[in-house]
Amino acid sequence: MTRTTKWSLFAGVAAFVAAVLPAAASTQPVHPAAALIEKGAVAMRSDPDASKRDAEAALAALRTQPDVDLEIRARLLLCDYQSERNQQALDAEVAAIGALLPRSHRPGLRAGMLVCQGEMRETLGDNAQALAYYEQAARVASEARDDEMIAGALFSRGYVLGLQGEYARGLADLRRAQGLYETLDMRHHALTAMNGVAILYNRMGDYVQARDIYTAALAQQREAGMLREQAVTLHNLGRAHEYLQEWAEARRSFTESLAINREIHYARGEAYALRGLAAVANGLGDSRSALATLEQAAALQRETPDARLRAQIDLARGIALHGVGRLDASAAALRAAIDVFRSGEARGELAASHAELASVEAARGDWRSGYTQLALAKQVSERLLRNQIDQRFATLRVEFDTASKEAENALLLRDIQANERALAQSRAVRRLQAVVIALAILLVLLLATLAIHQRRSTLRMRKLAHTDELTSAPNRRAVLNRLAATLAGEGAGPCTILITDIDHFKGINDRFGHPVGDEVLKVMAQAVRDELREPAYFGRLGGEEFVVVLPETALAEGCATAERLRERIAAIDLAHLCPVGRGITTSIGVTESAPGDTPSTMLQRADEALYAAKRAGRNAVRIYAANGPSPTIGGLLPS
Ligand code: GH3
Ligand code: MG
Ligand code: MG
Repeated sequence: MTRTTKWSLFAGVAAFVAAVLPAAASTQPVHPAAALIEKGAVAMRSDPDASKRDAEAALAALRTQPDVDLEIRARLLLCDYQSERNQQALDAEVAAIGALLPRSHRPGLRAGMLVCQGEMRETLGDNAQALAYYEQAARVASEARDDEMIAGALFSRGYVLGLQGEYARGLADLRRAQGLYETLDMRHHALTAMNGVAILYNRMGDYVQARDIYTAALAQQREAGMLREQAVTLHNLGRAHEYLQEWAEARRSFTESLAINREIHYARGEAYALRGLAAVANGLGDSRSALATLEQAAALQRETPDARLRAQIDLARGIALHGVGRLDASAAALRAAIDVFRSGEARGELAASHAELASVEAARGDWRSGYTQLALAKQVSERLLRNQIDQRFATLRVEFDTASKEAENALLLRDIQANERALAQSRAVRRLQAVVIALAILLVLLLATLAIHQRRSTLRMRKLAHTDELTSAPNRRAVLNRLAATLAGEGAGPCTILITDIDHFKGINDRFGHPVGDEVLKVMAQAVRDELREPAYFGRLGGEEFVVVLPETALAEGCATAERLRERIAAIDLAHLCPVGRGITTSIGVTESAPGDTPSTMLQRADEALYAAKRAGRNAVRIYAANGPSPTIGGLLPS
């Protein structure tokens, strides 16, 4: 990528970001109903009436600016509100939601409607039906991958499972709901789920555990200012104390719960707290006060359709009536309670009711019925106890399974992380290897280049050492070495050498200058080079003298070459160098090799012949035959 394309790409990305970011940052204007619904969802747990008002205000806003999903959520709040109060109103909301759902973008909302319907069944005491609704809700929410709706369904299902004695499964549901709410940052709902966990401990007969969770939850709810939650937790805490027969603490909790319920106008909660206070009075043997309190509770209960609460009031009333000796009324109340508890599978309360009825029947003298009730009480409480024990084991198993699965996951995760680390390390090693290989290749290339350079420069130096700088001909040393090699050559025949010397060269220097003399030397060398054919060679001996070697050449032939050379040099036109337009001439001495000759002995003879040529008037060739008895100049050629 060229520098320009890179920059234009950067500029393009920057422009894109600048165009898109503000659009992304400025979220769509929030629908006025959305905030009301959020507020209402939180208020549902602390102030149901406020929640209802928020939902209705949201619906009013939605009439001018319709939004299917928001309308469903607003109606779900109303549904939740009515599920504890008014079946007809609830049915109307469910019908409205059912009509909206086909146009909804959030399929998980159907689960919310199913939960609402389940709550209504639960309020009416039909836990089996309620459970069926919750199961369906959990399925729908899971398929829609709607975490908030999954948590809602699990919370309701866990609660009812607990009511039915399925404590282990109930606990698992409630804990999952609590976890999901925490992940969704729905603190209020998470706390409610935690409360549910405590209720189950309560049911499992683990009152101490329950009491401790309630106490912790209460502290958080107080901090968060969740009034309705506090009222419920205080009631439940009172129940735990009631079971533990901690009467003073129970009274304190129920009293505080009652005050808060009155403050938030939650009639059903008030009724529950009053029943608790009546139970405390019964526990302390104050039956009259218990009856008076229960009168108030029953009056409030009639405003809200809560079968279970009515049964609990009946149970407490039965005990109190027994205390004041109104045995028939007591038996009637207890039988009414038993009917509801039996269908609701509230075994603890059922066993307590049977036991109380047994002693009432005995007091009435109906020993037979008393015995039957006692047997039933024993049967139910034994089943309850066995179930509680089974469920405690099942809970432990669920906890163990979860813990071992988590441990397994942790091991797996550690394995994966170790593998990833090993992979990263081997990748780093491979990268390093690649770098090392690349560096090695670079180094080899560098060394090779250096070696080539070195060799070239060595060759150049050697060539320089053997070459005459001015004429580029081999220098004296080079040419004489080669001559020695020629003379020593295996089976070498006679060879002839020529020494050429420019005539009156000093005069050229003197008249035209040394540089012109140099040029003349170059021209002269070129003429010799042009004249010679392989295997002949030549070199500069020094000054204006050159030696020509003619291997395997006899004297006569050598003389002919010398003569051609002399003529060639004489014919050179030096007009461009010497303005006077004169050429040059050479004198040449020739000799032939003899056995035992060295370059030096041959040079001496050729020099003698050269002097002879000079003496003869220059521009001439003279020879010095090797076999002559003494160095004599002979065989003069015509000049
Ligand atoms: P002769 O005919 O007797 O050979 O006369 P000559 O002048 O050629 O001989 P001499 O030996 O007196 O002079 C040779 C001259 O060559 C002397 C020197 O200045 C000149 N010479 C030697 N080497 C070079 C060179 O490399 N360049 C130039 N320009 N002149 C050179
Ligand atoms: Mg000379
Ligand atoms: Mg000369």
